[in-house]
Amino acid sequence: MNDTMTNNKETRGFQSEVKQLLHLMIHSLYSNKEIFLRELISNASDAADKLRFKALSQSDLYQSDAELSVKLSFNTETNTLTISDNGIGMSRDDVIEHLGTIAKSGTADFFSKLSEDQSKDSQLIGQFGVGFYSAFIVADAVTVRTRAAGLPADEAVQWHSAGEGDYTVETITKESRGTEIILHMREDGKEFLSEYRLRDVIGKYSDHIGIPVSIWTEKDVETGEENEDGTKVTKKEGGWEQINKAQALWTRSKSDVTDEEYVEFYKHVSHDFVDPLTWSHNKVEGKNDYTSLLYIPAKAPWDMMNRDHQAGLKLYVQRVFIMDDAEQFMPSYLRFVKGLIDSNDLPLNVSREILQDNKITQSLRNACTKRVLSMLEKTASRDEEKYQAFWKEFGLVLKEGPAEDFSNKEKIAGLMRFASTHVDSAEQAVALASYIERMKEGQDKIYYLTADSYAAAKNSPHLEQFKSKGLEVILMVDRIDEWLMNYLTEFDGKQFQSITKAGLDLSKFEDEAEKEQQKETEEEFKSVVERTKAYLGDRVKEVRTTFKLANTPSVVVTDDYEMGTQMAKLLAAAGQEVPEVKYIFELNPNHDLVKRMADEADEDAFGRWVEVLLGQAMLSERGAMEDPSHFVGAINALLTK
Ligand code: ADP
Repeated sequence: MNDTMTNNKETRGFQSEVKQLLHLMIHSLYSNKEIFLRELISNASDAADKLRFKALSQSDLYQSDAELSVKLSFNTETNTLTISDNGIGMSRDDVIEHLGTIAKSGTADFFSKLSEDQSKDSQLIGQFGVGFYSAFIVADAVTVRTRAAGLPADEAVQWHSAGEGDYTVETITKESRGTEIILHMREDGKEFLSEYRLRDVIGKYSDHIGIPVSIWTEKDVETGEENEDGTKVTKKEGGWEQINKAQALWTRSKSDVTDEEYVEFYKHVSHDFVDPLTWSHNKVEGKNDYTSLLYIPAKAPWDMMNRDHQAGLKLYVQRVFIMDDAEQFMPSYLRFVKGLIDSNDLPLNVSREILQDNKITQSLRNACTKRVLSMLEKTASRDEEKYQAFWKEFGLVLKEGPAEDFSNKEKIAGLMRFASTHVDSAEQAVALASYIERMKEGQDKIYYLTADSYAAAKNSPHLEQFKSKGLEVILMVDRIDEWLMNYLTEFDGKQFQSITKAGLDLSKFEDEAEKEQQKETEEEFKSVVERTKAYLGDRVKEVRTTFKLANTPSVVVTDDYEMGTQMAKLLAAAGQEVPEVKYIFELNPNHDLVKRMADEADEDAFGRWVEVLLGQAMLSERGAMEDPSHFVGAINALLTK
C-alpha cells in the first residue's frame, strides 16, 4: 500500500472488495435509498450494546443506561445529515480495520458472481449486508468522527472518504465518547434533509431499537411578548425529540408487537434486506428462564455453504448484549436461523468457552431446536407454497439433520421434500407422509433411487418394474442424498429401500402365474448366466437373471451392505480413497438383445455381447465409463459382423 503520511494524517487505499462493494451498492440500491438509515442506526445501537457489555468488566466506562442514545440532525445549508451515538466508539486501529476492509472470507468470490448479472444485484447485495458502506448510497462523501470508550479526548479519530479509491484517517480531539457520522448528501440524497421524511423513515427503522433515537427539531414558540401590531412574538426553539419506543422489542409482549416491527427487527439482527419467511417469539419461565426470538429467513445467506460461515444467535443475558453469532444455541443443520436468545440463567460474564459445555446452553439449544422444527412444521401444514420456498433455499442444509441430531430424526425427515415418480416434475415437493398415504396394499417399504440428476433418475431402468406395478419411488438427486440415506433408515416405522440394491424383492406384487412363468424362464436361462459368469470372471460379483426390467436388457446393482454408486462418487469427489464397487450384473431374459446374445454360439462374439450389455448397464448406473474405447470396440465389432 502506498500510504502517505503527514503528521498523523494518512491516506489509505480501500481493500479491493470494499471498492467493489461501494460500486455495486451505489449502482444497485438507488431505488432503495432509505436503507442507509436502518444500517447506520443499527450500527449505533450495536455500539451501545457493545459498550454495555464492555462495562460489565470495566465499570468506569459509562454511568447508566439512561444516557445511551442515537441522535440525528441535519443542515440544509451544508447539505449534511449527522448520526451520532455515545456507544463504544472506535480506536484508530478499529477504524482502519472496520471502515477500510471487509473481513468476511469469500467476499471476493461473491462479488465476482454479482457483477455478471446486474439486475439481481440489489437482492444479492442485500443478502450480503452492506452495513456502514450504505452511507454512500446517499452521500458523495462521509466523515466519521469517533472516540473509543476509555480513550482520552485527544485520541479520537476522523475518517473521511468520497467513496472512491481511498480514505483518510487522522487523530482529532472529540469531547465525548462515541461515533458521529456526517453524510455529505448527493443531490438525490437531499430528500432526507427534511424533518418530515426523517421522522417517517426513522420511525420505521428504529421502533424496535432498545435505546432512544431522537431527531433535532425546531419549533416556533411564543416568547410571551407582543409585537406592535398585537401579534405574538415567536422565536425558533430547538430540541431533541425521541421518535421510537426505545424498549428492546423482544422484551415486549407478543400482542404489542406488530408484524412490521418484527420484520424490521429481523433486518436489524440479520443484516438481511428481504423480509423473513416466519418467526417465533417466546418467553419461557420455569426450569430455564429465557426469551427467544427466532427467524427463518426467506433467502439463504450468500455464504451458507462456506466452511467459515458465521451462524448463530445474538446472545443476551438479562437484556445485556453478550455476543453475536453464538452458534451454541442452534445445531449446524439449522444454521440459517437468525435471531436472539436472552437468558436470565446464564452468568453475565459468560464466554464462548463457558457456553461450550454448559448444561443451560444444552437445554436452551434443545428448546430452540424444537421451536424451530415446530415452526417449520406449522408453516408446512398451513402454507405449502411458503414451505416450498423455504425448502428450495434451505433443504440442502436441513438434510444434514438426521446425521447430526439423532433425537429429532423423525421430525426432520417429516420436513423433507423430494421429487418422486408420483409427479412428473423435478421440483422437490413430495413429503414422506404423503408417500406413505399413497403406498400400495401390502407395501411396507419406502422405495427410493439416488442419481446424479433428475433426468438420470427419471429415466433409470431400475424404475421400469415400479412403473408397471404402480409403485411410487422417491427420486433423490442431491449430492448429499446418498450420505443422508446412511442415517435415514426408516420413517413412520417404514424402512427405506434403495431400488438399486440386490435385496430388492417385489415378488409380493406379482401373481402366481407370473411367478411360475419366471421360474421356468430362469431355469432355461441358467446356462447363459453361467456362460456370462465364466466370461467375466471376477470383474463382477455375480451374474443373475432379472424380471424387473421391461425395455432395458441389463442393469447393475450392488449388494445391500455394499457401498452404492452415488456414495462412491461422493467420496471420490471429496478426494477420499474408495474401494472398487463390485456390481451384480443382471440380465433381462425377455429382451431381444439378450436373446440374441443367448443364441450366439461363437465364444468371441458372445464375449462382445457381454461387453456391450455390461458396458451400457455401467454407463446408465455411473454416468461415465472407465474404458469407453473398449466398449466402443465391442459395439463396432458386433455392428460390422
Ligand atoms: P457490520 O455491522 O455488519 O459488522 P458494518 O460495515 O456496518 O458491518 O460495520 C463494520 C464495523 O464497524 C462494525 O462491526 C463495528 O465494529 C464498526 N462500526 C460501525 N459503526 C459503528 C458505530 N456507530 N460505533 C462503533 N463501531 C461501529
